[in-house]
Amino acid sequence: MTIRLQFLGAATTVTGSQYLLTTERARILVDCGMFQGSPNESIRNRIPLAYDPKAIDAILLTHAHLDHCGLIPHVVAEGFAGPIWATNGTVELAALVLLDSGKLQEEFAKRDARWERRHPDKAEAEDREEEAKLEAAIELADQGEDITIPDGPAGPYVVPPTGSAVSGEHVATSVEPASAPAAPAPAADPAPAAAQAPAADPEHALRTQPPHLDIDLDEALYDEADARASLAAFRGIHYDTEFDVAPGIRATFVDAGHILGSAIIRLSVTDAEGDTPVRIVFSGDLGRTDTPILRDPTIVTDADYVLVESTYGGREHEPEQEAIRILSETVRLVADHDGVLLVPSFAIGRTQEVVWELDRLLEQGKIPPLPLYLDSPMASKASDVYRRHPDYYDEETRHLLETEASPLDYPHQIVVNDMQQSQAIARAPRPYMIVASNGMLTGGRVVGHLRNLIGDPRAVLLFVGYQGEGTLGAHLQAGATTVKLDGQPHDVRCQVRSISGFSAHADESELLDWLGHFAAGKRPGDPGFPRRVFLVHGDPDAQAALEPKVQALGFDTVIPHWHQVAELD
Ligand SMILES: [Zn+2]
Repeated sequence: MTIRLQFLGAATTVTGSQYLLTTERARILVDCGMFQGSPNESIRNRIPLAYDPKAIDAILLTHAHLDHCGLIPHVVAEGFAGPIWATNGTVELAALVLLDSGKLQEEFAKRDARWERRHPDKAEAEDREEEAKLEAAIELADQGEDITIPDGPAGPYVVPPTGSAVSGEHVATSVEPASAPAAPAPAADPAPAAAQAPAADPEHALRTQPPHLDIDLDEALYDEADARASLAAFRGIHYDTEFDVAPGIRATFVDAGHILGSAIIRLSVTDAEGDTPVRIVFSGDLGRTDTPILRDPTIVTDADYVLVESTYGGREHEPEQEAIRILSETVRLVADHDGVLLVPSFAIGRTQEVVWELDRLLEQGKIPPLPLYLDSPMASKASDVYRRHPDYYDEETRHLLETEASPLDYPHQIVVNDMQQSQAIARAPRPYMIVASNGMLTGGRVVGHLRNLIGDPRAVLLFVGYQGEGTLGAHLQAGATTVKLDGQPHDVRCQVRSISGFSAHADESELLDWLGHFAAGKRPGDPGFPRRVFLVHGDPDAQAALEPKVQALGFDTVIPHWHQVAELD
């Protein structure tokens, strides 16, 4: 039996999760996410689909974040007509995410058209630049497809470096020294040569971005109507219930503890009657143990192949108590100086947890009662979904529900509904706090607030989530002193702080703990001991740091490149 697994996204990067699994009898996708972050990355959404969407039997969705579900409306519009399986929580959240995404793309496309009418010369140059980026992305995908990862004997498989064929075509961008990317992995874990990313590496060139934010000026990939049409294909399922996906493929979703409804997906795949099933586990985004609201990620003990996320390879989150201490200290600092606290936050997951922690801190008298502007319509709607689903909460939260009416609400919160209200926040009496999406400063209302506050020494910009390589957020986090917002230069005078302890992602020890359960009590070659672990959903430094530690658990590892195919037997 040969199963082909193609890595169509989240390969040496953290966005665009999408895996195509093909047997002689069936074809399915696990996740169908959008590339987000720098413009060089989002151009990858535009390359032609690597498959005929009409020939795909089903899509399985791990969770509702845009980088896991964002391409669904596009794939449906191109002809996919099968079911999309997800937990009921994910179905509700994905509806919000996809409708919002369709609407945003329409808005950007309109803004783009207006801009092009006003600046025809610049528009032409920009179009040429975009086209060159698209060509570079297509070439990079082709290179990935050229190298199949064989299902070989144990021993680390070294992915040949992708060629320099396109290096001449792509103009490498330079980054000012003050805004160099975050510190590399500790010296104890030297990155392999392939991950060192020399300037000539097209992968590296495609990812390196100066700290400039230009709203993506492309035509809409899909609109709100496409998004709405795709919702009809969703089918809600429960955790821990095995079901048939396609001929020879059965799936079980178990709780990943990342956001509401998030799942680890276990597949059991047979190519013909009587075959022994091959078990493949997709970690999806793995949550953390002992975080508020949601349950811990499910422990899985047996698989033939594992795909594991690696967002925080090489890094540890500070303990929860330390994260809470930094949050309360920052709120008090802002209160004492009549300042403003701006928290860029992912609408789903992060926002609910930050509000939860602020509510706890206020209740314990550790912070003064500052007003909190929740400036993300999607976050408010997502909070409604969270409130409707106590069935997904952990014990602690269910217990709190019995004693407190609304643990998901901060009493001094002001939900901001429209753009006018959002702009009016700047005139509100200080001090106050704003939580606005999106979390990596790649767009959304947070950008308007950042424009107002970036030059203000009494403002604090507080990151509570992962900042993808090349994003404005990552540059600010790394200490950029000057940034450009929509072409306008700004000096960074506000304070920039980060808390990693509120991350929705497992840190390195938690990833290794989770993987360790596959090896516990077994030896390589034993049934249920994974024959190979694929590291996905991580930036190159993180993956390079994590890989030797995964190998130390006894696993054979692969870091697949974008569009590579692995053969699984
Ligand atoms: Zn996620």
